[in-house]
Amino acid sequence: MASARKKREKAERREEKRRREVEGLLREGKLLPVDDRKVVSRSVLPRIPEYYRDVEFVCRDCGKDEVWTARRQKVYYEELGGEIEGRPVRCALCRKLERERKAEVTRSMREGMRQMRGEAGGDGVGGTL
Ligand SMILES: [Zn+2]
Repeated sequence: MASARKKREKAERREEKRRREVEGLLREGKLLPVDDRKVVSRSVLPRIPEYYRDVEFVCRDCGKDEVWTARRQKVYYEELGGEIEGRPVRCALCRKLERERKAEVTRSMREGMRQMRGEAGGDGVGGTL
């Protein structure tokens, strides 16, 4: 039947067009193939994409528009062990500030515990239970 063949040809042309688009984006580095053996997931049935592509998002802290590039995603998911379900919430600068804030909290908590132990120890000899 003629129409069935036409339909198939149309589908093939569409597929060919999609393939060319993917090849173009791959050349430009806007699309990167996913190595699913390296990807970790918290899901029982993970939905692992075929490619990473640049993702636009708004920073939670400063409201700035940011792009999470395909290249950074590949590093995050495949080398740093980030779960494939993970999405960015902060821009690079706010992420850095948040990291520093957390480090400061940890540092002052440690300092506080040391002081409490010192006081409980009295003369500072032994008694550090
Ligand atoms: Zn920000």
